[in-house]
Amino acid sequence: MFEKILIANRGEIALRVIRAAREMGIATVAVHSTADSDAMHVRMADESVCIGPPPSPQSYLSAASVIAACEITGADAIHPGYGFLSENANFVQAVEDHGITFIGPTAEHIRVMGDKITAKDTMKALGVPCVPGSDGGVPSLAAAQALGDEIGYPVIVKATAGGGGRGMKVAQTANDMENAFQTARAEAKAAFGNDEVYIEKYLTTPRHIEIQVFGDGKGKAVHLGERDCSLQRRHQKVFEEAPGPSITPKERAEIGKICADAVAQINYIGAGTIEFLYENGEFYFIEMNTRLQVEHPVTESIFGVDLVREQILVASGFPLSFSQGDLTINGHAIEVRINAEKLPNFSPCPGKITYYHAPGGLGVRMDSALYDGYSIPPYYDSLIAKLIVYGRDRGEALARLDRALGELIVDGVDTTVPLFHHLLAENDIHTGDYNIHWLEKWLEEHSSDF
Ligand code: ADP
Repeated sequence: MFEKILIANRGEIALRVIRAAREMGIATVAVHSTADSDAMHVRMADESVCIGPPPSPQSYLSAASVIAACEITGADAIHPGYGFLSENANFVQAVEDHGITFIGPTAEHIRVMGDKITAKDTMKALGVPCVPGSDGGVPSLAAAQALGDEIGYPVIVKATAGGGGRGMKVAQTANDMENAFQTARAEAKAAFGNDEVYIEKYLTTPRHIEIQVFGDGKGKAVHLGERDCSLQRRHQKVFEEAPGPSITPKERAEIGKICADAVAQINYIGAGTIEFLYENGEFYFIEMNTRLQVEHPVTESIFGVDLVREQILVASGFPLSFSQGDLTINGHAIEVRINAEKLPNFSPCPGKITYYHAPGGLGVRMDSALYDGYSIPPYYDSLIAKLIVYGRDRGEALARLDRALGELIVDGVDTTVPLFHHLLAENDIHTGDYNIHWLEKWLEEHSSDF
């Protein structure tokens, strides 16, 4: 087992890893930029190393600085959290080359899943259902038009190198294809320096359903059911829950097994998430994230397991502490992402927290690095807290969310908390009747409420 883990991240996820490590008797090292000298992750870790100035390319994204911090402190493993270097195959390779263990999958698996066409081809070959579309890149407008006619409109043109929802254009009819194809290519070229695009059938009212998988790196893998993350703004998730309100136990068992078998076949190690669009009872693979997800706590709540502990266990060569048969779902969990942002435009709102009171009580978990008097720096992501509630059923979880949001006080900056108060007044949220477009549409109609 590792003696000391360095956490190459900040904020709530750094605390999350420190907590798991401490319960396992493992020492922790925090790294931080000069803007984060007073941050909670620095205070909570056993040791800390300043790795550079505020902009992340010079600190949290600097592979050389992170590896140097590891060598200085004698840490034997790195946990990357999510974002930053967590899905950077070159970083993982460099870490391994320095004799340090990366707590996550291999560089090769990260590389395969990081390229959208290779990821889709790989998943297809492993028996995972994919969205109908082109086999790889589409070389010309004529080929795109021929494919559009074959698949049937609407279709979506997507950048091979895409990410963050960029380089994606929908063609509703054959007449739109020329424009969609050329625009997606131009955007892809500008954003990623690679104008290759591919084509998929455009699903009009899907839900976002993702399956949590876990591999031991030795051909054994399990799934931990699904999360429904359909409530999104600009492809960013804001409200996540498990289990998914629309998924039956039979569907869960089937798609879960397909995903677990797929990752077992490639000897995948650690946590992973296979993302699908789900429409009319069918699952369509869109991408795989080779890391711990922001929304992992809802899965932990309903299965009663610590996913970070499992990541650390398998990375140090131990078997998973559970098998598929040990994993049963109890109750329902919901997470809301609380950002320091001003509504209705969601503009970032960094600043000093003059008063902070976290909610508590049965079934309430607050993952946050906030404290009274903390100054949120302007350089990083605006996520400041994740409120996770658990109940015996969905109704109880929603009532608990309402109660917990009422207890929360964050003074000094604007937050997205009012959005959740408003959402809880909506019938569709209570019936679970929403798809990936619901929130955008609702926001258009309700922006004057904030
Ligand atoms: P990115 O890596 O840029 O986030 P994804 O492939 O994960 O790109 O897609 C992001 C979002 O775009 C999805 O969550 C979904 O909302 C939408 N999307 C992607 N592909 C399709 C599709 N074939 N049909 C409908 N919506 C899609």
